[in-house]
Amino acid sequence: MAAGLRVSAKFLTAAADARQFPAAGPPEIAFLGRSNVGKSSLINSLLGDKVAKTSSTPGRTRTINFFEIRFAGRPRPDLLFVDLPGYGYAKLPRDVTAEWPKFIEPYLRERGPLALAIVLVDTCIPVQQSDKQMIEWLQAQGRSYLVVGTKADRVSGNALRNALRKMQEEFQLEQILPYSARTGVGKDELWRALRSTTGLDQENAG
Ligand code: GDP
Repeated sequence: MAAGLRVSAKFLTAAADARQFPAAGPPEIAFLGRSNVGKSSLINSLLGDKVAKTSSTPGRTRTINFFEIRFAGRPRPDLLFVDLPGYGYAKLPRDVTAEWPKFIEPYLRERGPLALAIVLVDTCIPVQQSDKQMIEWLQAQGRSYLVVGTKADRVSGNALRNALRKMQEEFQLEQILPYSARTGVGKDELWRALRSTTGLDQENAG
């Protein structure tokens, strides 16, 4: 269970190029989404720490940042969190992959330890074409992914349910997990999903 979970995070490295990726180690969880979707806020809220830099200038981060995640009492890192640059910053609608630095696609396509891609979508704005393309691309790659709806505290009740239902239809998904970095809604559920994807639940069972 995620409640009461103690976890520590340590910045490992920033890669501007595929050659700078760290050697394959523990399972990796990649976080991706449009610039300003709330990715840094979500990572920081999951970790209870300010490891990811929130930025007032969207589209700035152009490196892939790796963080070692360790549960309390464990000798080695259990996971790496991998913070990918935000996409879709250009105002013009474009193929999401076209504006990606060349190393992001290789990461998602080829990275061995990548266990799960978390795709963040903003619940406060209409469905975005770039998100749809991202999700379809991951589906085509056969990658495991989970879609999380950010800023769930900004829309309440019916509006949130409607936004999630619309996105589910548009992206052809069974589930989108609502999340708020501000209130902590969704945090336990997301941790549970991360632990089960990476096999940590079975390992720690009993
Ligand atoms: P990033 O560019 O995807 O890393 O996005 P940030 O984490 O920097 O957040 C972008 C903006 O959205 C900031 O102004 C945040 O304060 C705001 N934000 C992020 N998450 C939440 C949330 O859960 N609730 C609310 N109300 N605002 C949020």
